[in-house]
Amino acid sequence: MIQTIGILGGGQLGRMMALAARAMGYKIVVLDPTPNCPCGQIADKQILAEFDDVDAAKELLDSCDVITYEFENVNLNVANALLAKLPQTSRLLEITQNRIVEKEEIRKAGLKTVEYFAITSADILEQFVIDYKKNPRKLIIKTAQGGYDGKGQNVINNIEDLSLFEKANYNPKIQYVAEDFTKFEKELSVVVCRNKNGETSVFPVAENIHKNQILFQSIVPARLPDDVEKMAVNVATQLATHINLVGTLAIELFLCGDKLVVNELAPRPHNSGHYTMNACITSQFEQHIRAVCNLKLGDTKLVSPCVMLNILGEDKHLMNRENIGKHKLHLYGKVEAKNGRKMGHINVLADSIDKCLIEVEKLINSNQ
Ligand code: AMP
Repeated sequence: MIQTIGILGGGQLGRMMALAARAMGYKIVVLDPTPNCPCGQIADKQILAEFDDVDAAKELLDSCDVITYEFENVNLNVANALLAKLPQTSRLLEITQNRIVEKEEIRKAGLKTVEYFAITSADILEQFVIDYKKNPRKLIIKTAQGGYDGKGQNVINNIEDLSLFEKANYNPKIQYVAEDFTKFEKELSVVVCRNKNGETSVFPVAENIHKNQILFQSIVPARLPDDVEKMAVNVATQLATHINLVGTLAIELFLCGDKLVVNELAPRPHNSGHYTMNACITSQFEQHIRAVCNLKLGDTKLVSPCVMLNILGEDKHLMNRENIGKHKLHLYGKVEAKNGRKMGHINVLADSIDKCLIEVEKLINSNQ
């Protein structure tokens, strides 16, 4: 029987997984190099080590009955050393660690991605620049590996920008993907969980608003026609089945006309799923724990409209508990509040999305 859960990574996602697991009586061991990290603060034990330290990973293996991870860039040697207790396996990590592999896999599942071109060498870039002159368009060039929250992204408006990228920013040791800049009506996301028995459950679709490429707000239920909501749920189940998911998969989507285009996948609970902590019968973190422990999954029903507001390092007034009123504050225990750093979030629940948005506006303006 599973008593102790090991978590690779001690950030906020690990912390919220651990809090959900603790509520169910599990013990937690976390591996993270930072002392007093968000998950370390509430775990039974922290193994202080770098993520590529295979010996430390073996210590984690010996101290737990099952292991999960909170981030996609888990070293694959480490993941493979943990396979005996990693029901999620390393396959989804391999897919989501590289945007090119990820897009190929999404297409293999029969789903749409944006139009893209894989830049895997300097020669290929040179040819791409020549071809671009015949078909100039707005692009976003992203590093294939390691970028998040818009980091590692270059917006290309014209041939001058592309030449500048080639001369000043391009690193031949790195792979890139050049995506057509896509006009979309909305950004959506959907979180799906699946256990080893194949039981699958999808959370309600979130409508996401970004600022400076960082998630600002998630609005649930998303303001969409029913058939688009159904389509998003189908995309999630189709992907979960295609990759034989165990654990959690978050899918970021663009709504383009009446089509859904998959932008990005994350093999873990997602920032845009934080609304589930107060607005659904089961949170994404509890569901993730249920999935990796192969328990029956919980009910994902939405019990109230909700707007989730992210708190970044610069939003000092949103971290002040005196300001929070009746809303649901979640702080991650991060010691240093840097600009753009995710420090916590607030879930605002009300009878309607319009009422939630009014309350969110009041919170945002509470520092004036
Ligand atoms: P990503 O790191 O891929 O999630 O991108 C961060 C944000 O940049 C997304 O949430 C979108 O707002 C925007 N973005 C990313 N890719 C594209 C694209 N191909 N076209 C237009 N906007 C994009």
